[in-house]
Amino acid sequence: MTKSEQEQNEAVQQLRQEFGELKITLETEFLKQFLIARSWNIKDAKEQLENTIAWRKENNVDMHPVTTMDNKLPLLYPIRGFSCLPDGNLEVHPNISESVLRIYRWMGGSCLHKTDNDGCPIYIERLGHHAAKEIAKYATSEEVSNYHTGCNEFLHRVIMKDCSKKAGKHINRETVIFDCTGMGWHQLHMPALYYIKAVSDTDQKYYPETLNKLYLINAPSAFVMVWKIVKGWLDPGTLEKIQILGKDFKDVLLKQIPPGNLPTFLGGQCTCSHMPGGCVPSQILKNIPIMEPNDGNENVSTAYCTSIMEKGKTDEIIRGPPFFQETKLK
Ligand SMILES: [Zn+2]
Repeated sequence: MTKSEQEQNEAVQQLRQEFGELKITLETEFLKQFLIARSWNIKDAKEQLENTIAWRKENNVDMHPVTTMDNKLPLLYPIRGFSCLPDGNLEVHPNISESVLRIYRWMGGSCLHKTDNDGCPIYIERLGHHAAKEIAKYATSEEVSNYHTGCNEFLHRVIMKDCSKKAGKHINRETVIFDCTGMGWHQLHMPALYYIKAVSDTDQKYYPETLNKLYLINAPSAFVMVWKIVKGWLDPGTLEKIQILGKDFKDVLLKQIPPGNLPTFLGGQCTCSHMPGGCVPSQILKNIPIMEPNDGNENVSTAYCTSIMEKGKTDEIIRGPPFFQETKLK
C-alpha cells in the first residue's frame, strides 16, 4: 500500500501521540518501520511497538553489550569495510561464550560485508554449507536466539549508524545474500528449520522492516521444498523483498551492489585477501582453522560471558551506543 508523504507524516504523528511522554525518543524512521509492517494501521503498529519495548525491557536487550572502538569487545561475527571498526573475524576470546563458538563451528560461513548501492550493509551467509543437523543437535533454540539478538543489536546500534553517517541519510535496513551452494536434502531437517522460524519470528516481531533486499542464490531444486515451509512463516511484506535465483544471479546482484563490494564467488571483484578467510570465513569450508572453545569460554546461553553481560547493565562504555536515544528534558 503506497501512502503520500503527508499521509505518512500524519500517521507517524498519530502513533507518536499514542505513546505520550516517554523517556526514550521514538525516531520518525523507527515509527515508520512499525507502521509499514502493520500496513499503516495505527492500532496494530502501536501494539507491536509496545510489545517490542516490553520485550527489550524484559530481556535486558537495551543493556546488551555491542562492540565499539572504545570497549574493544570481541566481534560476534566477521565484518568488512566499515569506518567505525577495523575489519575483523569472530575469534576465540575469553569474553565470548562457549555457546557462540559452538554454533559458529557448524555454520557454513557468515560476514557483514560492505554496503550496497542504497548504502545498506550486506550480510552474506553460506547457508548451503550449514551443518544443519549438528546445529540442531549441539545448540539449543535459546542459544541460537541469544546469539542472533547479540548480532542484531550490534547491527542496529553500531553498523547502521556508521552506514547512515556514510550515506548521509537514515539507514535501518540490511541487504542479505543467502548462498545455497552445497545445499542438499540433509538441510531439510525440521529441528534446524524451527531455529530459522524462531529467528525470523524475533526479527519480524521486534525488528520489523529492517530488510532491504534478500537474495537466495544458487537455489537447488531441493530448496523449493524447504521454501514451501519457510514461506508460510514470513509476512507478505517480507516475501516481496525476496528473490530466489538459481545459477544466474550475478547480473541481479551487480544491479544492487558495486562490484568492489561483492566477493568474487558471488560475481564481484572483492577478495578481502588482507583477512584470514577472505570475504566470508568458514570453518566448514576450511578457509580458517577450526576454533575450539577453551576453559576460558563460559558455558552460558548469552553471546558474551556473564561478567560482560552484567557490566552492560551499569557500564556505558561496555554497553555501547543505545538503541533508543534518551529524550532530552525541555
Ligand atoms: Zn570482501
